[in-house]
Order: sequence, then C-alpha cells, then structure tokens
Amino acid sequence: MEWKNPIKNKIAQVSEPCQIHFISEDIHQLGDGEILLAIQASLICGSDLHIYKGLHPAVDLPVTIGHEFTGKVIAVGNGVTRCKTGDLVTVEPVITCGVCSACRRGEYGYCKEISYTYRQGHGALARYFVAKEEKVYVLPPGISAEKAALAEPLAVAVHAVKRAQVCLGDRVVIAGAGAIGIMIAMVCKKIGAKCVVISDVSESRLNMARELGADIAVNASNGNIEDEIERLSSGEGFDKAFECVGKEATFVQLMSCLKMNGLLTDVGIFEKPLIRLDASLIVKKELRIQGAQGYCWDFEAALQLLQELPFEKLITHRFPLHEVRQAMKTALDPDSRAIKVCLIPDWDQGTGGMENDSF
Ligand SMILES: [Zn+2]
Ligand SMILES: [Zn+2]
Repeated sequence: MEWKNPIKNKIAQVSEPCQIHFISEDIHQLGDGEILLAIQASLICGSDLHIYKGLHPAVDLPVTIGHEFTGKVIAVGNGVTRCKTGDLVTVEPVITCGVCSACRRGEYGYCKEISYTYRQGHGALARYFVAKEEKVYVLPPGISAEKAALAEPLAVAVHAVKRAQVCLGDRVVIAGAGAIGIMIAMVCKKIGAKCVVISDVSESRLNMARELGADIAVNASNGNIEDEIERLSSGEGFDKAFECVGKEATFVQLMSCLKMNGLLTDVGIFEKPLIRLDASLIVKKELRIQGAQGYCWDFEAALQLLQELPFEKLITHRFPLHEVRQAMKTALDPDSRAIKVCLIPDWDQGTGGMENDSF
C-alpha cells in the first residue's frame, strides 16, 4: 500500500531527566515485511520511569519511549502474510542481529547486539508504529487492546518464572508488588506453587497482589520482615525468590529467606547496582543466584495466559496520549496507587498538532 503524502507521527521522547515532549516524524513507505500500526493502547513500564528520571543504567538520553502496546494494522508492505488490515496485534519490541552465535542458536535474548525498538527512535508512546512482521503477534479473540498491551511485561514475568523452573508445590517469595512482581505471583500460582508470598511498602499494591492471587502479602515497612517471611515458610525457607524492586535491602532479605540450595532470580533494575551482601551465606546455604532479563520465545505463553487470568486489573489509570506528562507523574506518584498507566492515542483538540490522521 502506498500513500501520497507522508503520514505524520508523533512520538514521546525523554530529552533530559524529567522532560518529556513529542517529536514529529514522517512515516516512509513500507518496506518488504513491514506493517504500519495505529497504536490503540500503550502502557508505561517501570523501565520508562527509570529512563524518565535519567537513571536507567543502559539507556542514554534523549530517547523515545514506549514498548508495551497494541496496534491495529492499517497497512502492510510486500510479502506480509501473517496479518492483514484491521487485525489487532501486539509487538515484541526487541531488535536482534540474527547472525551472532546466540541468534543462530535461537537464543536471541543473548544477542550481542540486542536492542529495543524504542531505543532506536521507534517508541510506542506514539500515534503510529512500523513493525517487522516477524515481531508481530495477532491477538487471540476476546482480548481487549488494553489488556493485550500487557503481553510484553507478562512475557518478562513468564521468562523469569521459566528460568526459575518454578514447580508444583514450590514455596515462592517475591519482593516488589509492581506489575512484574504481581504477574510473577499470578503465574506461579497458576502453575501450582504451594505458597506465594509477596512484599512491598505500598498497601494498595499489596491489596492488588492479594486480589490477584498471592497467598500472603506482607508490608515491608512493618519492622522485621525476614522473621515474618521465615515464619510464613513454616521455618523451612523458600524454594524460589524473585527480586522485582532493584534494591540492596530486598536482595539481601531474599537471600536470607531462601532455604538451602534455594534459587534467587533477579528481575529488578538497580539504579544503584553496587550492593553489599553476605557472600558467606551463598556458600553456607549453597544459594543459587541468577538474573532474568526480557524474554526469548515467551510471547506465545504470555498471550495464552492473558486469556486465562484477569491481568487487566493491573491497569489502574488511563490518559489520552497528549497528557503523557500527567501520566508519567501519576505513574511515579506513590499516592496515586498506580500500577499500570495506559495511554490511548487521541486525535482531537489539544493534541499539539496530532490532528491530521488521514492519508
Ligand atoms: Zn516494559
Ligand atoms: Zn544476534
């Protein structure tokens, strides 16, 4: 499909810490295998907040943002066979080289050149997005555009749970009841964990975690949480722990809550990555510590789980796209009780030039 006049896109960009605005860009004609999407819903991620604050360890400013989204196909380039105009899709926003040894083994999550679309100027807090066909997933029926935008963070949770090999009957402890922590709790329960304990300092997040399936939600600001958590595991310690905060205190707490040979999976992004921990505990308890980052072949499981569990409850706030500043403030404000903030592209007044939607 060809269009005469360029399509005007607007993309949110963080130019310097706590400064976000829209940049304009013309969309070129589609190349082979490319798909033009009109974004229907885009979510703010915890990593977007680290970027917004200028504290993401792997991202330099300025950078466009947004990578959790649903789009409607409005045009397809030559050779596209897996979707058609009108389909609702979500996109795996990862860019890999395809030729390094990890990519050739299919372990593209370990690609030497791995990047994300938003880091290359293709943020999804935007009106439009040009996707590559191989990264596009057509939504199963019955999932709303907002809910489907959760496929990306859910793929992160699925990846972490798979790496931790959570089994039937496992006792699991999770630090951090943000979206990823709660999703990990939900997935662990779904696959038969015996006891899932989650900790946070926000009572509203803990309530959400309880509502969505955590067996016990503990407020970490109430004194000696290690003893409390230890008691919850019947004194035996936990089989698996997930760190979803990115702080020294929670990392160290989880080490002490694990049983002998327990496995700690670190998912959180550390704004201060140098931490102090008791290394002798790793030896004494034969602890295993690993990271989980992003995903690798996890979107299909995420889309399946979206059909089975009420993840949409994690979306607590909605804003029209042009109110992205307000949306960011809300996502950062502990008093807002926000878990997932959703931005819906709007085409009307007040959109700072986002009025010309026709081509
Ligand atoms: Zn994300
Ligand atoms: Zn590669």
